[in-house]
Amino acid sequence: MNRRSFLRLSSLALTGILTQSCNPAGSKAYDISIKSDMQLGHLIFESASFPEGNIFSTDYLVVGGGVAGLSAACQIHNRDFVLCELSEDLGGSSSSQSYAGEIFSQGAHYDLAYPDYYGQETLRFLEKLGVIFYDANAGLWDFVDSQYLIEAQVESQTLTETGFREQVLEQGKLKEDFLKLLFPYLSEMKMPTRLISEKLRLLNKISFTGFLHRSLVLTSSFKKGIDYQMKDDYGADADKVSALAGIHYYMCRPYYTEDVSLFSPPEGNYYFIKKMADTLPEENIRTSHLVRSISKTGKRFDVQVINIKNETVDVYRAQKVIYAGQKHALKYVFAPDGHLFSNNEYAPWLIINFVLNDKIKSDPFWQNEFLTKDLHFMGFTDNASQIRRKGGYRIFTAYYCFDSTQRILLASITDRAQAIVAETIKTISLYFDQDISNQVEKIFIRVMGHA
Ligand SMILES: Cc1cc2nc3c(=O)[nH]c(=O)nc-3n(C[C@H](O)[C@H](O)[C@H](O)COP(=O)(O)OP(=O)(O)OC[C@H]3O[C@@H](n4cnc5c(N)ncnc54)[C@H](O)[C@@H]3O)c2cc1C
Repeated sequence: MNRRSFLRLSSLALTGILTQSCNPAGSKAYDISIKSDMQLGHLIFESASFPEGNIFSTDYLVVGGGVAGLSAACQIHNRDFVLCELSEDLGGSSSSQSYAGEIFSQGAHYDLAYPDYYGQETLRFLEKLGVIFYDANAGLWDFVDSQYLIEAQVESQTLTETGFREQVLEQGKLKEDFLKLLFPYLSEMKMPTRLISEKLRLLNKISFTGFLHRSLVLTSSFKKGIDYQMKDDYGADADKVSALAGIHYYMCRPYYTEDVSLFSPPEGNYYFIKKMADTLPEENIRTSHLVRSISKTGKRFDVQVINIKNETVDVYRAQKVIYAGQKHALKYVFAPDGHLFSNNEYAPWLIINFVLNDKIKSDPFWQNEFLTKDLHFMGFTDNASQIRRKGGYRIFTAYYCFDSTQRILLASITDRAQAIVAETIKTISLYFDQDISNQVEKIFIRVMGHA
């Protein structure tokens, strides 16, 4: 990249990107498809006039077809259960998109080899699904489909305001002290997090920044790196994330202590969704079914479910309900338990897949992270470093993470899509120091109103 492009790129501040309206006159119009579950979610409030449908009985009703709902369903696969997912497809924030024989991620896109101190139930479950095996030499659980591992030398590149570096956190003494502070918690940070001891849960009462300030003097550039990683994983910076969450993030990433495999199939973490869904009876999975309300009648739950395609409201009489939807929305669906997540704030994400005729001349990195002035643009992944079809398309997947207050702007994404896409293409063009706009064949946008 030449110096002029670098200076323009590193100082980009696109904070107004969501408030841009239609495409500026004379600019190129891109072929864009938009998927947003925000409208469907609002059917909870807008379905009052839908007629009654059928009445069903089931032992277990699972709300949500993301990673959590499907893994819950897998635990009860031979019992009487129904899983309801409001979208047409399973996946939630681990979804995928297909185009011309190519599949790519629209959300979560990677996982790492698992240390042995993770909860055994998770490890055994993934082993049973045929996803991981125990590598006794490395002392780690590694991935069966090793063709999807990303080579270490192309894993990532981070753009900062002063130049490129390999990792988000600056190398040096401060990083060493930072990790030294966290390492004592290493074997305590389990998955799932409910296995973490009660004593350590006290760390939920202070912020990660507060915890770090007790022992370290953070420079602003180092803090920016931590904030980026917290936002990337939790949707908010270290001031808003609890100390337990911050420690958990770093201590669950075994690459801070050893070299580990980075697993990123073309479809991203939809790979796990498919593995789980394939083990479940198809007739028990109901997509385009939105759980509108849950009420308790004696020992039983009466669950109202909107059948979105029929525009009717079915009733499911269930002995137990497993809620695996977004936490903040529980208060609308089952008010008595809404208080459980009253402190949760949600970050809206925008994911943009660019399908390109691959003529870009550059050394690809799988993950291209942006620590620039634009705090919402997180960067993009490049499938040139993943396994892909011979002669297949090159796909860039860009990520924006907004503040919870900006969520409302995403509701009118259709009016703003061309402008947002044009701005993102400009940013990526500067990054590669070449105009990519003529290579873009198709664009998919996914709005995650709450993730
Ligand atoms: C942009 C982004 C990138 C990420 N990248 C990674 C990554 O690379 N690696 C990683 O490990 N993690 C990543 N994560 C986190 C990961 O995606 C999530 O932790 C995980 O997918 C959450 O799964 P879940 O089932 O808990 O929730 P969700 O995926 O949110 O699933 C909830 C599901 O419930 C459905 N639902 C909600 N309410 C109702 C209702 N009332 N009725 C019916 N259905 C309902 C929703 O439609 C949704 O499908 C990322 C997250 C985001 C947003």
